[in-house]
Amino acid sequence: MSNPTSVLEDLLQALPDLRPQLYFKSSLTALSHAMEDQVLAGVDCSLVIASFQRERFYRQEAHRYLRISERAEQVYVLAAPETDFTSRSDQYETIAFVPTDALAQEWHLVVVGPRYAACLICREKQVPVATADATMPVATDQARRFEGIWTFDRQTVCIAANLLLDRILPYRPELGAKLAQAKAQLQIEQQTGSNDADPEPFAERLVTYLQAGQYKLLKAYRSIAAKERKERLVNSITTAIRRSLDPEEIFTVAVRELGQALRICRCLIYRCKETDTHVVIQHEYLGAASGSLLGQRWALQDNPLFQEVVQRKERVYVADAQANPWVLEDERVVLPTRSIATGSQSESVVQRWTIESWLMVPVMHQNRLLGMVELHTCGGTLHEWTDAELGLVDAIAAQIGVALIQAEAYANLEDLNQQLEALDLTRSNLIAITGHELRTPLSTIQICLESLSTEPDMPPELRQVMLQSALTDTERMRKLVQDFLTLSQLESGRVQWHLEALPLQECVDLALSSIRTRQRQSDLPEITAQVPPDLPLLKTDGEWLVEVFSKLLDNACKFTGPQGRIMIQAHANGRQMLEVTVADTGRGIEPNRLETVFDRFYQEEGALRRTTGGTGLGLAICRQIITGLGGRIWAESAGKDRGSQFHFTLPIARSEPGEKRTQTKTGRSKISRVRSN
Ligand code: ADP
Repeated sequence: MSNPTSVLEDLLQALPDLRPQLYFKSSLTALSHAMEDQVLAGVDCSLVIASFQRERFYRQEAHRYLRISERAEQVYVLAAPETDFTSRSDQYETIAFVPTDALAQEWHLVVVGPRYAACLICREKQVPVATADATMPVATDQARRFEGIWTFDRQTVCIAANLLLDRILPYRPELGAKLAQAKAQLQIEQQTGSNDADPEPFAERLVTYLQAGQYKLLKAYRSIAAKERKERLVNSITTAIRRSLDPEEIFTVAVRELGQALRICRCLIYRCKETDTHVVIQHEYLGAASGSLLGQRWALQDNPLFQEVVQRKERVYVADAQANPWVLEDERVVLPTRSIATGSQSESVVQRWTIESWLMVPVMHQNRLLGMVELHTCGGTLHEWTDAELGLVDAIAAQIGVALIQAEAYANLEDLNQQLEALDLTRSNLIAITGHELRTPLSTIQICLESLSTEPDMPPELRQVMLQSALTDTERMRKLVQDFLTLSQLESGRVQWHLEALPLQECVDLALSSIRTRQRQSDLPEITAQVPPDLPLLKTDGEWLVEVFSKLLDNACKFTGPQGRIMIQAHANGRQMLEVTVADTGRGIEPNRLETVFDRFYQEEGALRRTTGGTGLGLAICRQIITGLGGRIWAESAGKDRGSQFHFTLPIARSEPGEKRTQTKTGRSKISRVRSN
């Protein structure tokens, strides 16, 4: 049934003098609508035949054809079905032709009446696929090209109508009689009809439809231009991101490009977290706005707009920021603005910085707020943000998010590298220290034990010396292994802190009694502890704190000598922390070593020339413990031979209502166990 020959071709064959013209789809739409409007306007009409390429083109016009069918004697509509277009006889005749029919490439409209006849017989010109751009569907659709005949010439119109009626017959043979009647009527129209209907309404409508098509096209091109602008901007920022891993550089580019593209009064980009109370502005684009915010503290917690963005996790804007209260863009949320004043001045932020419309777009990554893009408009007219503008800012914010995450990942990698380097150093130190610290005492122990076993006649005094040396070196090895295990446990983060409210005095007492049992009184310097009785309780883990004291006291004794003095002091450092000092009058520390002493395996004389014993791990362990307990530890010294002071802070226990917060002797130690040293 499918007819491969084109109606246009048949018409040109019937009338070889006709010259087809080129039409864009927008013009064809305007022409068709203007022709249909002649029928709708009441010009007498005996026959209307419309052939749509596909059902979807017809569907947009179905309602119009219902109205046309009320005004014309016979109406035929042809289309290739896509879903439910079928051949039927209703208010008018529908003819569903097969998609392979040449009609599927054509666009026809024929209107014939006693005072008006016109036809539009066209065929679509195929455009190569490469030039059809899917990114601009409206514009390309309107620019589709057709070639064909548009004429009021009655003879041509009637021939065209006859050709179309002939196309209908094979699809709807049951309409044979009706079609024959239409053909007979056509003959009459051709002979007796005249085109004397007033052409002015037609011309007017045609112009109106052409204008509408033009406007549609303009809109499409505008949106393409906006899209292109957006893509160019996003590209330039993406390029900046690719070129640099430095967020500062990316912010500089983004704030400038975005500000310029939107010709905005002020654009700000900054990093922030949900909980930040304020930020200091470091990246700003200033257009017509008065007053730069660079270097200024910019309140966040007090800004209801910021809070709204944090809550919604999406962009929010207020079109009229000078109004009080603020009505947000969806006109449902109203925010009180009284809290947003600039510090001591009563003047509000919006007045001070002449903000008229205020947009905040969050920079997010996996639901985490990383930063903010802010846009302010000013200049007397309220700004309505368009979808294109908002889409652009959203796209930039998304790119900035990617950049920040990328930079973060890079920084983490750097960190990881540093950690690996440190680990490598530790490994080398470990090899050196095990080589020396373990091998030396092991050889001593071996020699002593061998001598003891091979020389049974050894005098008892010498035997005692041998045994003592072996025991001392065994103890040194045990200490090293113990410290090493403690440090690796602390560094791995596997320590479970048992925090409780404790009096500092209790920990000091335990550490002092431990050192006094471990060392001979005569070898120790004078130790005094001055812990005020009204000191608040600590929130800490007693066992680990005693470990810190033991290590600091061991060092102080080691580097001070029996003639020196050691003092333990403590005072409240603000309302939240206690500060404890272990000071000695010993050999002191060089100013440039005050931080290094906390490094693993650091010993002033070097691990391999050590004379004082020790592992070089004690202070590293202390720092891990104090940091883990929420405090800070540092060393001070006036220099060589001028004594050292080790200070550390620890959190004060928060008292429950009615509870006394000071150091009362409980008479019973709350610390269940002193860590074995
Ligand atoms: P060590 O087991 O060698 O004492 P530490 O980590 O405890 O290891 O101390 C590291 C180094 O810090 C010591 O070797 C010493 O050089 C220096 N140091 C620690 N405490 C003192 C102190 N009270 N006075 C002088 N120097 C000290």
